[in-house]
Amino acid sequence: MTQRHSQPLAGKVIVLDAGHQLGNHNFPAQINRPVPAGGFTKPCNTTGTSTDGGYSEATFAWKVTSRLKAKLEKAGATVVLTRKSNREDRWGPCVDFRGRKGNKRHADLKISIHGDGSLSSGAHGFHVIYPPDRAPWTDDIFGPSKRLAEVTKEALLKKGFSVANYIAGGDGLDERADLGTLNLSDVPVVMLESGNMRDSGDAAVMTSAKGQERYARALALAVRTYLG
Ligand code: ZN
Repeated sequence: MTQRHSQPLAGKVIVLDAGHQLGNHNFPAQINRPVPAGGFTKPCNTTGTSTDGGYSEATFAWKVTSRLKAKLEKAGATVVLTRKSNREDRWGPCVDFRGRKGNKRHADLKISIHGDGSLSSGAHGFHVIYPPDRAPWTDDIFGPSKRLAEVTKEALLKKGFSVANYIAGGDGLDERADLGTLNLSDVPVVMLESGNMRDSGDAAVMTSAKGQERYARALALAVRTYLG
């Protein structure tokens, strides 16, 4: 067994952005402060959503990120996190920081992990968001980011997840120009809306250790495929 085989991601730098922070709701002034978001300003962050049972998006994102980090590091990658805790007494970081994280290090890619909160009846499934061909912000990363989005979608399908039935297009992909996390990135980036936390079926998967592990496995597969 050579190192090349056991550590296929050696030398790669991967940024993982676990959406929101558990304590954001405790810091409204800090969270609502406008920050640069790619030609306009947006609030620093939001509280994120939760399941009907109160399981927070921040915790879901944190758990999947932690599992994914371990898998990528085992494969030899260097993993950079945009936040290093999941705590009620912390807030942020803001979307501009999240968007720029990894730029200076020329990271190989960035994945932002979220859960959605649609109240539409029966809305469920995942979708992968990527930035558009928009100068001067994301024209440089549009191509590779779209490819990363497609690879991520395929990996999730392979691990048994299904595409969202409530997003225009219906193909599980969504191009958006309004997200600072994507707009300020100089490295290929996608944002995964892993499922609809307000849907009881998605919520059951998203709050279970088994489900979180399946998300992490799918994303590790996506990274390996994209960088392979
Ligand atoms: Zn979110």
